[in-house]
Amino acid sequence: MYKQIDFNILSDLAKKREPEWKRFLTKNKKRIEKMDTKIHEIHSEISKKTNCLECANCCRALGPRITDKDVERMAKPLRMKTSEVISKYLRIDEDGDMVFLSMPCPFLGNDNYCSIYESRPKACREYPHTDRKRFYQIYNLSIKNASTCPIVYEVMERLTATPNP
Ligand code: SF4
Ligand code: SF4
Repeated sequence: MYKQIDFNILSDLAKKREPEWKRFLTKNKKRIEKMDTKIHEIHSEISKKTNCLECANCCRALGPRITDKDVERMAKPLRMKTSEVISKYLRIDEDGDMVFLSMPCPFLGNDNYCSIYESRPKACREYPHTDRKRFYQIYNLSIKNASTCPIVYEVMERLTATPNP
């Protein structure tokens, strides 16, 4: 029976499992390249059972990369000019990417709802990425994300427990 992992202990759990997940990658590189269908099945099953409103860890801890298109989309519900959105909510980080000025995200409510949900940045829509094509390309990123997201943690656990076909 699946039980949503308490995100307060997730980071410690993920750290403990990291060596095993890395070993799995070393031994199964070619195999993982052919596992998208299986990984997407696991993602879909876990996502359906996960209540993101009880978590919102990504909106608290991770800074999504924000594109010019995202700014245009966000400006509409905020009834602001794009230049105002940039000066009020955004900054350029050390990699030269546009990100929120500070985290937790300014649009995250106390009830964990996103106040610009329909217009949220693309990176927020796509997180936690475990349903993307060519998952093997983000295997190492997912090891990192497993410290933040219970969905990713569970996908990594199930994936690395999958027997050889
Ligand atoms: S995507 Fe992951 S980290 Fe974000 S709210 Fe859902 S379970 Fe939590
Ligand atoms: S814009 Fe919305 S979905 Fe994206 S981090 Fe902020 S609260 Fe979360």
